[in-house]
Amino acid sequence: MINYKLLTPGPLTTTETVKREMMVDHCTWDDDYKQITQWIRRKLLKLAGVDEREYTAVLMQGSGTFGVESVLTSAVGREDHLLIAANGAYGLRMAEIARQAGLSFSVYETNYDEIPDAGVIGRMLAENPRITHVAMVHSETTSGILNDIEAVSRAVKAAGRTMIVDAMSSFGGVEIPVGEWGIDFIISSANKCIQGVPGFSFIVCRREALEMCRGRAKSLSLDLYGQWKCMELDGKWRYTSPTHVVLAFAQAIRELEAEGGIAARHRRYAENNRLLICGLKELGFRPYVGEEHQGPIITTFFYPEGKNYDFQEMYGYIKERGYAIYPGKVTDAETFRVGNIGEIYPRDMEKLCGILADFLQEKGCLRE
Ligand SMILES: *Cc1c(COP(=O)(O)O)cnc(C)c1O
Repeated sequence: MINYKLLTPGPLTTTETVKREMMVDHCTWDDDYKQITQWIRRKLLKLAGVDEREYTAVLMQGSGTFGVESVLTSAVGREDHLLIAANGAYGLRMAEIARQAGLSFSVYETNYDEIPDAGVIGRMLAENPRITHVAMVHSETTSGILNDIEAVSRAVKAAGRTMIVDAMSSFGGVEIPVGEWGIDFIISSANKCIQGVPGFSFIVCRREALEMCRGRAKSLSLDLYGQWKCMELDGKWRYTSPTHVVLAFAQAIRELEAEGGIAARHRRYAENNRLLICGLKELGFRPYVGEEHQGPIITTFFYPEGKNYDFQEMYGYIKERGYAIYPGKVTDAETFRVGNIGEIYPRDMEKLCGILADFLQEKGCLRE
């Protein structure tokens, strides 16, 4: 087995100490275990910068999409209408969830290298009183663009509607004052910026908005309100919890705190991202997203313009030398992506740039 670091936006490279936590088989109804769940829930509220009296955290089995589906199908009632602002595959996935669940919804779509406009959303809300909920992705992992959830959340709050944010690839790596911005539901998962392993998602919910979900869910296992009611009692998950993942996640939170919290992690990610973009630009790669909207998590690059370029070949070359990068996901251009989150440091970015320089030289696809 070749061991390589993941330059992907999750699952990502975790520490040895996070992985080691999974060597224990823990009982689920045991008090110690339930206390770990409660501890995690309280820590998530701290990371979100919210007060326990106003907000609560719910953990949900499954990958991030399960968390998004849980929120959309639990919060949007039969009389409601959901507006989805989408500028990438994850925004469009929310529309797919809504369609599959038979929700009433509409989509405000922008180009993948442009951000949804808070002014436009504000006008849509003013003109369409039937819109009750707005959902948007924060860090669109499709391209790496960072959407302005502050402006959109404030506009939605001012209009008295419910705001749902998919902050999957940003929560823990970018400061998000959830309460101050007026976000009602914010979703992320164990295997992104908190640097745990895959297995569950979590949702920080405004209690008042969560109370409204009672009896609304269109799914049993993804019923956010039902999951909360059970977990709120004493920390017990409604159905079998991913015990090993939960233990690893608790360790990942301790390590996030030891690093200096979200501010420090954000600095490391931003520095990784800066070095990556500088280094690749020097080699002739052009980023897909403009500088003003580029997020610190993952970057999309156009294929180089020179001849003889083959992504699979480049991928294999890099992997043999210790790193796995990501294919592109935008639909309007030939691209690849490099993530810089996880147990990744500036020296990894420098090594990657060196490997890429060697590759381009060897294959003779450097631009003149
Ligand atoms: C990772 C991610 C998801 C969830 O994807 P899963 O494969 O279900 O974990 C959702 N939205 C965004 C923006 C993501 O980056």
